[in-house]
Amino acid sequence: MATMTDMPGNINRQKAVGIYIHVPFCRSKCHYCDFCSFTGLDGVIDGYVDALCRDIESFKAEPQGYPSRRYTAETVYFGGGTPTLLDTEHFEKILETVDRRFNIEDNAEISAECNPGTVDVEKLRGMRRAGVNRLSIGLQSVHHDELKMLGRIHTYNDFLKTLDDAWRAGFENVSADLMYGIPGQSMSSWAKTLEEVGSMNLKHISAYGLKIEEHTGFFENPDGLTFPDEDTVCDMYEYMRDKLCQMGYNRYEISNFARQGFESVHNLKYWLYEDYIGFGPSAHSFLNRVRTENSRDLKAYLKGENICVSSSLIGECEAMNEYVMLRMRLEEGVDKKTFFDKFGVDFDSRFSEKFNHYAPGFVINGEKSCRFTEKGFLLSNYILSDVLNFEEM
Ligand code: SF4
Repeated sequence: MATMTDMPGNINRQKAVGIYIHVPFCRSKCHYCDFCSFTGLDGVIDGYVDALCRDIESFKAEPQGYPSRRYTAETVYFGGGTPTLLDTEHFEKILETVDRRFNIEDNAEISAECNPGTVDVEKLRGMRRAGVNRLSIGLQSVHHDELKMLGRIHTYNDFLKTLDDAWRAGFENVSADLMYGIPGQSMSSWAKTLEEVGSMNLKHISAYGLKIEEHTGFFENPDGLTFPDEDTVCDMYEYMRDKLCQMGYNRYEISNFARQGFESVHNLKYWLYEDYIGFGPSAHSFLNRVRTENSRDLKAYLKGENICVSSSLIGECEAMNEYVMLRMRLEEGVDKKTFFDKFGVDFDSRFSEKFNHYAPGFVINGEKSCRFTEKGFLLSNYILSDVLNFEEM
């Protein structure tokens, strides 16, 4: 997978993007899940991979204003759904296609989400050979009752086995997903999950608070569910932040923790407002400030139909607001010089007064950067909706 810069005459004629591959198949539906995923359709996976490869091959755009430049893939991310329902040959075929069309960079981060119980060491070795070098394992909790409550199909032991298989297959860069705010979860059960998972030498941990979305099992059948109250959920967040930081993780984004140098390069593309291209039902792309969204219509996608349902050019004001909204999720916040270089607008003249007005004490608004304090992070959604004046867009 040579980069174009290896070739004489092609210096600087490339633009790095992130590639997202959606795999919309699952063994069963978790009770909180509103992602685009279908169960009982393993029989169409071969056809789906063919449709994906055709879609990737026929991708047309090149970087704007530079006819001789090409996009290269700095990251490839298999998300889902359950990407580990794909066979090794599927991973190979998709990655070869991405490489042909986008030229995967030599040191590209190639991640796959993985559900415990859907892989063994042989499949993981095959994925490594195909090029996957980062694994993100969906655990959520170490407690059987909480996993059951969420509708997860695996046990904690399945996770331990998958993790062991991942080490044996040679994966060094492994992440785990956790969840707090689960019905019936207590501070002490959350503390135990963090203690166990934090001691496993994982390179990365993502932890999200449970939100009830429409069209999910929890939304349709809320009877008998007892959620931790808002104060407890805040305490869970603060406990997690302190615990994981004590255990050597760096919180680089509000919900993401990494050992030094193991931040998710792909996910940083979203938070840094950089370009990415998504393939598959429900996938989003963001390219040259044009945001596109695919429908969830798997049938149409399998037939090779265009399932793009919206495409909009993000105006300058909206782009500045989105940029600030995403960058403020990061520990480092907004770098004011980078903001000026990107938009030609002084951050202070546009945003500082509003941050000082709406969020006194919740932001550290210095000469070079603007970022949230600890308390500000907890209230970030409220603060950002006040500060970012959407009427101007
Ligand atoms: S495994 Fe993931 S994508 Fe599949 S149903 Fe559960 S949460 Fe949704």
